Amino acid sequence: MKKKVFIGSLVLIFGVISLIYLKSFKPKEKGSFCPFCDEKVINYQKYFEDEFSIGLCSYKPLLKGHSLIIPKRHVERLEDLTDREMQNIFNLIKKTNLAVQKVLGNKSYIVIQKNGKEVGQSVFHAHFHYIPRVDNGSNFGFLTRFSAYPFKRKLNPNEMQDIKEMISQNI
Ligand SMILES: [Zn+2]
Repeated sequence: MKKKVFIGSLVLIFGVISLIYLKSFKPKEKGSFCPFCDEKVINYQKYFEDEFSIGLCSYKPLLKGHSLIIPKRHVERLEDLTDREMQNIFNLIKKTNLAVQKVLGNKSYIVIQKNGKEVGQSVFHAHFHYIPRVDNGSNFGFLTRFSAYPFKRKLNPNEMQDIKEMISQNI
């Protein structure tokens, strides 16, 4: 009897740990905490702000200079943006590119924007990734970075401060 209780407890503990573990990987759904509406997140990562948009340094960059351009207004998807916001956001992507190019000397960059969890949108506040690429290594290496994104290292506060300053001083 005691053995059964012991095994039962182990199964229960394992179940609870698994649930907590799986929940931590679940994408944030509508109505939950939005990091791009959170003042703390904005202040920590922001390199530029204007009337409609904000430029943020990625806290887990795929490559140095990886930035996120977001509308100030909380909307989930591209089609929710007004024409004015779209224009403003694309202007900021161009400005970001010029600033990052001055700092890193990259000629190439990629812009990615996802709509819906089926294509991997994990934060449901519309955002555009700007990712510069400096070196001429293999494209395979570059592309595999995208699948390794969840395992990338977070910048520490000093690294975040440095990259923020470099971009904001050149924008
Ligand atoms: Zn938001």
